[in-house]
Amino acid sequence: MEINDQERWARVKGRLKAEVGDDVFSSWFARMDLEGVNNDTVRLSVPTRFLKSWVQSHYGDRVLNCWQAEEGKIQRIELTVRSAVLRTNATKPAANGQAAPFETRMAKPGADEPRQPGHQSAMTNDALGGSPLDARLTFENFVVGRSNTLAHAAAKQVAVARRGDSVMFNPLYIHAGVGLGKTHLLHAVTWAGNAGGERKVLYLTAEKFMYGFVSALKTHTALAFKEALRGIDVLVIDDLQFLQGKNIQAEFCHTLNALIDAGRQVVIAADRPPTDLENLDDRVRSRLAGGLVVEMGPLGEELRLEILKGRIAAAKSHHESFTVPDEVVEFIAKSVTHNGRDLEGALNRLLAHSKLTGQPVTLEMAEREVRDLIRPQEPKRVKIEDIQRIVARQYNVSRSDLLSSRRTANVVRPRQVAMYLAKTLTLRSLPEIGRRFGGRDHTTVLHAVRKIEGLVGTDSALADEIELLKRQLQE
Ligand code: ADP
Ligand code: MG
Repeated sequence: MEINDQERWARVKGRLKAEVGDDVFSSWFARMDLEGVNNDTVRLSVPTRFLKSWVQSHYGDRVLNCWQAEEGKIQRIELTVRSAVLRTNATKPAANGQAAPFETRMAKPGADEPRQPGHQSAMTNDALGGSPLDARLTFENFVVGRSNTLAHAAAKQVAVARRGDSVMFNPLYIHAGVGLGKTHLLHAVTWAGNAGGERKVLYLTAEKFMYGFVSALKTHTALAFKEALRGIDVLVIDDLQFLQGKNIQAEFCHTLNALIDAGRQVVIAADRPPTDLENLDDRVRSRLAGGLVVEMGPLGEELRLEILKGRIAAAKSHHESFTVPDEVVEFIAKSVTHNGRDLEGALNRLLAHSKLTGQPVTLEMAEREVRDLIRPQEPKRVKIEDIQRIVARQYNVSRSDLLSSRRTANVVRPRQVAMYLAKTLTLRSLPEIGRRFGGRDHTTVLHAVRKIEGLVGTDSALADEIELLKRQLQE
């Protein structure tokens, strides 16, 4: 290679650095070498395939332009992965033919960068330590029911796969509402997948992914972060709906593609299907939708019962005296919402109560403790006839009095109350209510509703009366 070429390359690098900034430059170009120049083609090399595809897709044109600025005849940039690096790092051969050797090496990012070792490892530990795992969220403690059979089976499949097994679905994308077991399943995959020590399963929340990347960029080590990511067999990302920011998404997209192309498993959970992730661009969405997308439904009553029993047994192992009568378990399973978190919350309250007071858990106590977690019942449909009947009874008038045109005070007020209740407890329109009250005009109904609304604010006896009537009607 001519000396001139190296000098030119140094100037090209200078241009690149000026254009993209120090951070980006040191992340992506610091380890790019010039291999040679042939006529109109410049051959450059980078140490990893990942780096190659990243630079190609994001900075290909830019590199070419910078070269052309130095030497007009250059038409093409050819980027290769340096084989020398491969050889020096091939000390630990891949366990099978499946994984390319350079990828195995990536489990130790920065190993070939002795210049700043402390820096590298600190970043790597932080970025790739993964998010903390909850020891209780295992497959053993995961109850399988109709709503989660498929998600569970797929997760299990991922967890028991061995290095080199062909990947059946990629990514595995699980979506469900809050508290329906996504995180539980993802932790379970991570625990089980790492158990054998053969594979590395990394669990990251989307926030951790973003944080890791941003902080890595700040410390000029995005490269190491990327490569370390590539050293894992299964990447598990929780709460993908929180992934934000254009750069982060580009980064995520690239990581996803690189991992999937390299035959690595990706598992993702989010609170909505890929098509509803408005923040992500179309390519990412379609990539996400291209694997196996599984929804987990609400926890059915049976499932809730089983989850509760498991939780109680676990609590009992720490607090021997904690016993929950069957009727209480059934009550909670029946009445507490579909959400697993509320089930846990309900149980924690019983536990706290029984520990603090030393009192046994009873149905009455449970009803009191978990009142606010109880799923609102479908509001009962109230009929206008019922309103008229109950109001008439309350004020000791007849129903026909309410419908009549009599305007004596003892009928007018109950009639207004009844119309007010009809408006607030049913979906009937004002004209419809008017018709049902002896063919009155809708303005009469409106007047009655306003009148009572006004009085309720000042007349507490009337307010109580109306409360009582409402309760009778809704029971
Ligand atoms: P998500 O991540 O979907 O919001 P989590 O995984 O955090 O929900 O679950 C909320 C709570 O419900 C956790 O305590 C979890 O252990 C429990 N849970 C949900 N589904 C199940 C299940 N199928 N078996 C056992 N526990 C479950
Ligand atoms: Mg979660």
